[in-house]
Amino acid sequence: MKTPIEPIERVIDELGKLPGIGRRSAERMAYHLLAASEKDAMALAVAIRDLKKRLHPCRVCGAVTDGDLCVFCSDPDRDRSAVCVVESQRDALALDETGAYRGLFHVLGGRLSPTAGTGPEQLSVEPLLARLDGGEIREVILATNPDLEGDGTAAFLAEMVERRSGAKISRLARGLSSGGQIELAGRDSLGAALANRQPLRGKA
Ligand SMILES: [Zn+2]
Repeated sequence: MKTPIEPIERVIDELGKLPGIGRRSAERMAYHLLAASEKDAMALAVAIRDLKKRLHPCRVCGAVTDGDLCVFCSDPDRDRSAVCVVESQRDALALDETGAYRGLFHVLGGRLSPTAGTGPEQLSVEPLLARLDGGEIREVILATNPDLEGDGTAAFLAEMVERRSGAKISRLARGLSSGGQIELAGRDSLGAALANRQPLRGKA
């Protein structure tokens, strides 16, 4: 038998799983939703449902989209000779917002991590290499985060890309604070890191 309060407990439990939300905050939100109009409360429920039901990875680059191609791949004004490889969608958005780069992106879906047991097969590495086969991409910018695992991932990708294509390979300049994360970096320092990117391998 469910007690009358059980639906509230369920909402509190679910909200409490969100980052930065403790039990007290979850309770406040749950009772706020209970007091809200049905229309307002359901708008949140529907927004969350749509987030999971309507969005999927772009078939080319892996960025999240509700269509066949994402906003980057479907933009005819982008430079199709460059692809910027990032760990996450949020990194792609942060780099795009700098305005310093107007090429394409490729979302790996993480980084190589021996400690977490993440290998190349868990990341979108093969789809990246397959994109190079057409020969249209002439520069690959490795924009994984500037830390130990991000650097390791970039080194691995540089070798893979070099084996597969003649594209120029570059890495974001060290403009970010050591161990800084791309998604948290300021627009100016990210833009400078892009503009001053360093060649790693391949043709100049
Ligand atoms: Zn895409």
